[in-house]
Amino acid sequence: MNYSAPRIYLSSPHMGGDELNYIHDAFDKNWIAPLGANVDGFEEDLQGVTGRNHAAVVTSGTAAIHLGLILCGVEPEDEVICQSFTFAATANPIRYQGATPVFVDSEPDTWNMDPDLLEQAIVDRMEKNGGKRPKAIVVVHLYGMPAKVDRILNVAAKYDIPVIEDAAEALGSSVNGRKCGSFGMLSVLSFNGNKIITTSGGGALLSDDEQLVKKARFLATQARDEAPHYQHSELGYNYRMSNIVAGIGRGQIKVLDERVTTRRANHDFYFRELNGSWLEMEILNSEFGILNSSPTGIYFLKEPDGYYSNRWLTTILVNPKETRGVTREQIRIELEKKNIETRPLWKPMHMQPLYHGSPYYGNGISDKLFEYGLCLPSGSNLTEEERERVVTSIQKVLK
Ligand SMILES: *Cc1c(COP(=O)(O)O)cnc(C)c1O
Repeated sequence: MNYSAPRIYLSSPHMGGDELNYIHDAFDKNWIAPLGANVDGFEEDLQGVTGRNHAAVVTSGTAAIHLGLILCGVEPEDEVICQSFTFAATANPIRYQGATPVFVDSEPDTWNMDPDLLEQAIVDRMEKNGGKRPKAIVVVHLYGMPAKVDRILNVAAKYDIPVIEDAAEALGSSVNGRKCGSFGMLSVLSFNGNKIITTSGGGALLSDDEQLVKKARFLATQARDEAPHYQHSELGYNYRMSNIVAGIGRGQIKVLDERVTTRRANHDFYFRELNGSWLEMEILNSEFGILNSSPTGIYFLKEPDGYYSNRWLTTILVNPKETRGVTREQIRIELEKKNIETRPLWKPMHMQPLYHGSPYYGNGISDKLFEYGLCLPSGSNLTEEERERVVTSIQKVLK
């Protein structure tokens, strides 16, 4: 047993080298808190890399989603449509507002919100709620793969519902040259420790509407009215990013392109070395049992035409009917024994105990992705040796 081998992580922080300079600068000027040049600079950097006109950096991606929902006017009694196949942080802020999430399943091309199901859900909710429309739509680009944004935005526009784009996993991804983080009324980024770039913890809310971002900053700094004394007419939050943390972000943004290139190279490496097959829609739509569609039973998600994924995490689907019974769970357990961290794909929200009983519009796709899918170590700081160790370990289980 390989107990002494150092642990290989799914996605660990990877500093670029310039971060400390920005932090030292903040120390030198005693710009420790709350705001300052690093915050302003990082917000400008983010506008630059996404193409958005305005950005507010905050304490987390979750906080940014919460602010986004508040800006959409979400209140108790309201319903918000949310992609089911995602991390809980996408949906939880809906509950912070006392509102009800309505979960919509994924389509097989990008694994993100199915535009047809979205429309069905809207029509059905309106029918059930006396014509009242859902207050917002939260769409996600999971694992860095952009959602079918054009179609989602069209459906949203048809019913005049604002879209919040959860691009927490998709900084550096794009569709037909347009960057993730620039779609919809509001966009959300995360700089949590496991993301493609990190500030140790942090997030951002972006929009082309200056008033919305100004309002977000106001709400994120305790909603202080203009007055010499502390006066409040609205409920505020302490959500602003500190100038120290923003300094890490300034350093990280400089290496974003490199990070995307490396993550994409990880994906290509795994595809090649594991002798992967592209997942075809029919394969997933069927019982995932068509034999002879892959020599190895290991499937990867292809980028649709015009789509560019940052490949934040490399994901595989393991078809036990083509691996002589080996499941993704066996692979996960065997790799864990070798001190290699892997993880099942996100457990969809409609399957979570927390959201039991929430309205759900499904087609079974995300259930299957959860059942067969595994995320492989994907950090931009993985060494050649570590990637080899991952592949060799998987091959051993498959033998
Ligand atoms: C990480 C993540 C978030 C939350 O971001 P935090 O900065 O960790 O709060 C939201 N949505 C998705 C899809 C994420 O992966």
